[in-house]
Amino acid sequence: MNLVIFGPPGAGKGTQAKKIADKYNYIQVSTGDILRNEIENKSEIGLIISETINKGNFATDDLVNSLIEKFASSIEYRNRMIFDGYPRNVNQAKNLENLLIKTKQKLKAVLYLNVSRETIEKRIKGRVTCEKCNITLNEFFNKNEILNHKCGKSYLKKRIDDNIDTIIKRYDIYMKSTKPVIDYYQKNNILKEIDGSLEIDEITSKIEEILHV
Ligand code: AMP
Repeated sequence: MNLVIFGPPGAGKGTQAKKIADKYNYIQVSTGDILRNEIENKSEIGLIISETINKGNFATDDLVNSLIEKFASSIEYRNRMIFDGYPRNVNQAKNLENLLIKTKQKLKAVLYLNVSRETIEKRIKGRVTCEKCNITLNEFFNKNEILNHKCGKSYLKKRIDDNIDTIIKRYDIYMKSTKPVIDYYQKNNILKEIDGSLEIDEITSKIEEILHV
């Protein structure tokens, strides 16, 4: 069965999705990563979306839905996807539901990481990701890990959309477009709320409790 990991930008969705994917043999499907790859590879899609994404705005639903359909229709991904950053609005949530019905798959839970805006600002402002091993660290919270990072400090890079204006914009868009997805999932009782301000390992334990039910 598939999972959705949900919450505001900077809630730790990517970090948790990676941990759960490694441990339970899920595959992380991060629309943010997929879109950033398109930009990096200067693909046709990448050239169209780069300005939109760098400013903190959403890619269009049609584009993101069609990218997701490719994964959901593949045998390798079947019933072992952990969606990270998708769905981001009610239209995308409905699309995912239809897609899973069409491909005869199920959604086990929507893991909602709830975090305050203050915590998010700190997390995003300090976020760096290694270009080589893809680990995410934070300049405020992981000073030693950054100094001793195995790939070398120079590989740790900030995302272009992790600046204060864009963070505020992304949070506002989240409140307006993404938060209503909570009501959508609350109706069918699969929404599981987790305190996203906890330490990384504590959050993982809470997710594991949910997965073992
Ligand atoms: P993320 O890595 O999840 O924070 O996503 C980074 C950026 O990619 C977002 O600010 C959006 O511009 C874009 N993006 C990611 N997922 C979606 C989505 N489901 N729908 C539209 N845009 C998205």
